Amino acid sequence: MTETETLIIGAGPAGAACAGELKKQKRDFILLDKQSFPRNKVCAGWITPVVFKALSCDPKDYPYGIREFHEFIIHLKKRDYHLKVRQYAIRRIEFDRFLLEYAGLEPVLHEVKKIENSGESFIVDGTYRARYLVGAAGSYCPVAKTFFREDPGTDVHRTVVALEDEFSYPIEEDHCHLWFQQEGLPGYAWYVPKAGNIVNVGIGGYAGTLKKTGENIKNKWKWFTEKLERQGMVKGHAWHEKGYTYRVRDKHPVLQKGNVMIIGDAAGLATRDMGEGIGPAIESGIAAARSVITGKPLLPRSIRKNSFSHLNVMQQLLWQRIR
Ligand SMILES: Cc1cc2nc3c(=O)[nH]c(=O)nc-3n(C[C@H](O)[C@H](O)[C@H](O)COP(=O)(O)OP(=O)(O)OC[C@H]3O[C@@H](n4cnc5c(N)ncnc54)[C@H](O)[C@@H]3O)c2cc1C
Repeated sequence: MTETETLIIGAGPAGAACAGELKKQKRDFILLDKQSFPRNKVCAGWITPVVFKALSCDPKDYPYGIREFHEFIIHLKKRDYHLKVRQYAIRRIEFDRFLLEYAGLEPVLHEVKKIENSGESFIVDGTYRARYLVGAAGSYCPVAKTFFREDPGTDVHRTVVALEDEFSYPIEEDHCHLWFQQEGLPGYAWYVPKAGNIVNVGIGGYAGTLKKTGENIKNKWKWFTEKLERQGMVKGHAWHEKGYTYRVRDKHPVLQKGNVMIIGDAAGLATRDMGEGIGPAIESGIAAARSVITGKPLLPRSIRKNSFSHLNVMQQLLWQRIR
């Protein structure tokens, strides 16, 4: 049996941020992931400056492809708006690798199946024993499932279903576009051009609302990709969309029970307005490490302050229009 102080399950942004902070403080930990890196993750891949700030990293030092946006074009019902922003687009296959490299982390390849609570410690797959257990394995995290909820997929009103495709394309339209309240989509659609002639296209909507209206995300995908073709933004592409579901934030999320914690998508921390999850994953990862170090409860700043989004497109749009 391998013993450690903290066992972190999942090496995406949440787990990497937690492990990076523990490493900085010279604490003992093991970071597990079922996939070897670099690995891809279904995600539009835009991040706010807050993400780089949390990592104490200058975006200029980011070693992979990055594109800075100063404006979003928002299509709301039948009208178009230009929203001033400062955002970055990255590719998750590169960004998640960067997070590990930046902190000097090497995850152990292991898919967690069984977790037992044995008095003062946790035993994972009969192989690892740890005093603290951090669940960072995304929407279907085994730690969340074992200690926090029976079935992660049951809360349909907080569950977003999403489809996306990321591909090489000779980009002509280099603005980032977002479509809201169109074709009855209970969410939004995006077109994100990235560095190196990569485009990410996707749609996401609340599962509960889709179910109630008898709608299907695949029909919305068809509508959206046909629209992009018609508008000439993406022409003649053979679509290979991938799907993923994740939960957005509860008003009072439970992140900790004694020495077991859940962070990032495992805890459903993505923001309600935009489904922004990378920032909350990193923030909660750092906060979980600090909780291990200080013994204080895990309470990330944005949850303490009840601030649901770093971006909140609708509020900013309104603010820029009334000024
Ligand atoms: C279509 C789509 C678009 C999105 N766009 C954006 C966006 O533009 N900006 C943004 O901020 N957020 C976006 N998000 C949300 C964002 O992708 C997530 O919130 C973020 O990835 C959460 O990070 P995480 O570390 O919690 O989980 P993940 O990134 O999912 O990492 C979890 C890790 O755990 C590992 N794992 C899983 N199960 C096990 C197991 N049993 N044992 C060991 N390891 C395991 C996985 O291999 C994975 O590496 C989007 C989500 C979707 C679905």
